[in-house]
Amino acid sequence: MNRITLEGKLLFATVIVAFLTLVLTASALIPTYESYRSTHDNLLAVERFRQVLEAGTQVSAERGPANDIMAIEPDSSAPATERLRFFRRISDQALEALDEPLAVDVSSALPDLQKALADTRDQLRKAREAVDRVAATPLAERRPEDVQAAIGEMIEVIETFQAVVDWHVAAFTSRQSELTAPFLTGRMISDMREYGGRAASQIMGPIATRQPLRDSHVTDASRTIGRLLELRALMEGQKVVSDNDTLSANLMKDVDAIFFGSGLDLVKILIEQGKISGDYSISAVDLTHNYVPTLQPLARLRTVFLNDVVKRYRTQHDTASYRLAVIALITASALAVLLTLFRSIRLHMLDPLLTARRQIIALAEGSAMTNLETISKAPEMRSLFEALELLRGKLDERAEYEARLKMQAEKDGLTGVWNRRALEGFGNAPSEHEEDVCLMLIDIDHFKTVNDTYGHLTGDAVLIEIASRLQGAMRPTDIVARYGGEEFAVLVSRSDLSNTVDFAEELRSHIQAHVIRDAETGMDLSITVSIGVASGRCGANGWRQLIASADEALYCAKKKGRNRTCVFGDEADRDIVEGALIPFRARRSAAL
Ligand code: GH3
Ligand code: MG
Ligand code: MG
Repeated sequence: MNRITLEGKLLFATVIVAFLTLVLTASALIPTYESYRSTHDNLLAVERFRQVLEAGTQVSAERGPANDIMAIEPDSSAPATERLRFFRRISDQALEALDEPLAVDVSSALPDLQKALADTRDQLRKAREAVDRVAATPLAERRPEDVQAAIGEMIEVIETFQAVVDWHVAAFTSRQSELTAPFLTGRMISDMREYGGRAASQIMGPIATRQPLRDSHVTDASRTIGRLLELRALMEGQKVVSDNDTLSANLMKDVDAIFFGSGLDLVKILIEQGKISGDYSISAVDLTHNYVPTLQPLARLRTVFLNDVVKRYRTQHDTASYRLAVIALITASALAVLLTLFRSIRLHMLDPLLTARRQIIALAEGSAMTNLETISKAPEMRSLFEALELLRGKLDERAEYEARLKMQAEKDGLTGVWNRRALEGFGNAPSEHEEDVCLMLIDIDHFKTVNDTYGHLTGDAVLIEIASRLQGAMRPTDIVARYGGEEFAVLVSRSDLSNTVDFAEELRSHIQAHVIRDAETGMDLSITVSIGVASGRCGANGWRQLIASADEALYCAKKKGRNRTCVFGDEADRDIVEGALIPFRARRSAAL
């Protein structure tokens, strides 16, 4: 026999399906989570890289106001001094931001980065001191080589800072190779802007002091221009500047026309002029004002590129996050549905089945059923309980019918008191306490005459009235039965013989004293009864004897003239009893 319960099987199936669901969703969840993690790290990496390049740009940008201040008399322009101070503050803040810990774990040694940042700061301090020294010297005493040296120191800051940039490129690309292309392109575009600025700075000193260019100036500036052209050629091979192709094309067009066209041409012309004499066609200030705007397309190119890279990685990360959320949601929903199903099957099927079982047992035992409303709302289960309810109705009907039958079998049809069969049942039932009981046999005197005189219907009415009077006088524990045609029996429990005799006398007097009015004729009938009383026990051993004793006493009452009560065993009646050899019933008939 299969001993596993339905609930056990259901639980087992639920656990298996839940496990399979988890395995299935895990196969999608794990790679999605990996992709979520890596896009998250990539996004943080490109954001950090943009921050690094922007810090480089800020430090570079400090060169413009530094050049300006070195081209004017000391303290001659408060706005120029203020502008330089502002730019220095911005680049300090940009460098400070790089001290913050990296959000991504990298294998590269952090002390290398800290050293590169410290070197950059040292070099920046040195460069600023050189600039300040030059700016403090009166214009007439200012030597071009000092100006150029200060400019060189400022350029050196960016060279030093390059180690910071390189550290990030190495750290991030070694972790995620797919970042190599955007990082290298980013550095290239950033370098282009840096070299663009540097090209003019390298000849700024001699132009400010209207001196011819030395060989070193020409070499440095030419090398920078060469680097720029090289970078431009490399850029040609780089398809991706922006995700928007038209924007990329326009940006490059501007770079070519404005920077490589006008800007760089101006530098080249000035180099040519400086090779011959210090007679430049424009002043240092004009150079700055004409040249700096041509760097704009380079700056824009860098901004657009970096923003697009960050945007691209952010989109990737958003997509991965969305996918992760969807899969997690699907998994959670699948499990929730499964659990709800399990709970629902238990609640709406298994529990009701158990309840139905209990109720069927209750029905079999005849106890009441619980309220249908509280069982289950599922239509199938409701119909099961409705069927049970129907069964209960049918069983109730049958029980009622059986009760009626039993009643009919044990009650006298005319008088409504117990019949002789029922009395025999009570009398023969095993007596639990074996207690003494008393039995009265009550026979209507000359009843035949009543019948003969007034007719059977009147006789019946007399029987009904006598039964009713007897019943009315009894305690609930006493039993009144019709023992024969016009003979009644009263079984009196918990009473001694003398009390019962008194009681019998009361009954007899009462019947004698109260006439019975015949409803048919309207006549009053005087009825008397004879009563035989005996005491004894019920049950198999005592009942027959008790009946015989009461019958004998009744016989005596009849014999002694009727309308009286006789007690079994009364010495005074001994003659009457002993004188008869024939059975009591026959004697009683004979007594008539
Ligand atoms: P005694 O005083 O000696 O008891 O005389 P009796 O006439 O009462 O006794 P008997 O046994 O001679 O008559 C009993 C009569 O009761 C006979 C019968 O017709 C009548 N009887 C029995 N059952 C019924 C019944 O159900 N209805 C009616 N009306 N009469 C019945
Ligand atoms: Mg009689
Ligand atoms: Mg009789």
